[in-house]
Amino acid sequence: MTAPQIVWLRRDLRLADQPAFHAAAQEGPVIAVYVLDDEAPGEHAIGGAGRWWLHHSLESLARDLGKHGSRIVLRKGDAATELANIARESGAARVHAIRHYEPWWRDAEDALAKTVDLALYDGNFLLPPGAVTTASGEPYKIYTPFAKAVLDEMPPREPLPAPSTIHRPDSWPQGDALDDWKLLPVRPDWSGGIADFWDVGEAAARRRLEEWSDRVADYETSRNLPSVVGSSRLSPHLHWGEISPAQVWHRLHGRRGQGWATFAKELIWRDYAQNVIAQFPGYPRESYRKYDERKLWRHPAAGRLIARDLRRWQRGLTGYPIVDAGMRQLWQTGWMHNRVRMIAASFLVKHLLIDWREGERWFWDCLVDADYANNGVNWQWVSGTGVDSNMFPRIMAPLRQSEKFDAAGYIRAFVPELAGCRDAAIHDPPDEERGAYPTKMIGHKEARERALEAYRNSKG
Ligand SMILES: Cc1cc2nc3c(=O)[nH]c(=O)nc-3n(C[C@H](O)[C@H](O)[C@H](O)COP(=O)(O)OP(=O)(O)OC[C@H]3O[C@@H](n4cnc5c(N)ncnc54)[C@H](O)[C@@H]3O)c2cc1C
Repeated sequence: MTAPQIVWLRRDLRLADQPAFHAAAQEGPVIAVYVLDDEAPGEHAIGGAGRWWLHHSLESLARDLGKHGSRIVLRKGDAATELANIARESGAARVHAIRHYEPWWRDAEDALAKTVDLALYDGNFLLPPGAVTTASGEPYKIYTPFAKAVLDEMPPREPLPAPSTIHRPDSWPQGDALDDWKLLPVRPDWSGGIADFWDVGEAAARRRLEEWSDRVADYETSRNLPSVVGSSRLSPHLHWGEISPAQVWHRLHGRRGQGWATFAKELIWRDYAQNVIAQFPGYPRESYRKYDERKLWRHPAAGRLIARDLRRWQRGLTGYPIVDAGMRQLWQTGWMHNRVRMIAASFLVKHLLIDWREGERWFWDCLVDADYANNGVNWQWVSGTGVDSNMFPRIMAPLRQSEKFDAAGYIRAFVPELAGCRDAAIHDPPDEERGAYPTKMIGHKEARERALEAYRNSKG
């Protein structure tokens, strides 16, 4: 009997266009393995909403593998140790895996390569980080030239088909039962809204892409309007690797209109974020620009009132309807519209002067698409602490944004206290139409002046 081949699964939970599966299935019987390691990522261990998604995604992939008479072996612990153990127990010839760039995964790949024959493949990005460089051979730091260089290399390679046959090994290594991992919330089970909003798994990702292919042409105008479904909502599927960006590109490429061109640039933002963490692995944990952060931020640990401000933001009780609608959408569905993510993040960092890392952590726990690179890079972009242009002095006006992007329907959907408010009043309801809805935590003008002063005082 040919020695089995291990496929190490992480954020690549699919069979089609999965180069590690593709190669392993051609070389012998396949043992697919997922290792849950809550230690190595430290504070970036998978968050609450992510665990919900992971449970359902593993379940879905296991069902798909079951159609081939195959399964996923689940283990908990240090990934390199568990994989080396399984390789030894099963006599596996090789471990196949798609490359990941989160620092804890890079460490695990390095450690594993010392004990087994590890074959790494690219496949979760349009191009692997480092594939495009500046004229002097340096990785890009800024999005615009990076995007231009990536576009010059497009289209990405053709997607691979799912393996037609997956042979099973003579015997299966021991594994955990998925339910024993207790990834789903109980007491309280807060996942009802998330379950209503999402279908999880590779087939669901493919369906969403098909639906999106009919609507991508309107993306240029629809993407900024939170009251309509104007974006693809592919982010959790892309994050968990239920679909690859190459599949998305080849399905949509050539669609008419500006919509596709703008959408392609958003997909490239995803590659850009990965390119940033490949250069600066700790980026989602520390500000890139040097400020005197003690003077810039109001720290929740330093005072009860600041901690209360953070809680009001987290719970959607700031008194700014667009911010609160976003924060409640996040809590209910595990996702937030991109324009509203920018407004809500800017509000935390500039109106409340609370450290972007508090926001990054809350999003990390609540988003089903919580992604080490995308989350960290976008938080640093909004807060003006990152590698790109300094956005700190550009302070978004939430009320104006809400009107400009016609958020009335969105606010009604997520802030029921304001459901009866007139369209003209809902962005900034007068006292007589607020009902039980809270008053503003801080006025916009006052917040703006406070933020700019803190910024001036904290510049190096
Ligand atoms: C403060 C903040 C935090 C964010 N955190 C995350 C996160 O943890 N995970 C995440 O996937 N996205 C994050 N984003 C980016 C963006 O908001 C989401 O990718 C987008 O809203 C997902 O919805 P969609 O799939 O409908 O996007 P679409 O508009 O349909 O875009 C298609 C795909 O392109 C990628 N993309 C789009 N915009 C961005 C962007 N700005 N940066 C990186 N990739 C992008 C996503 O994979 C997305 O699915 C964050 C943005 C902000 C402002």
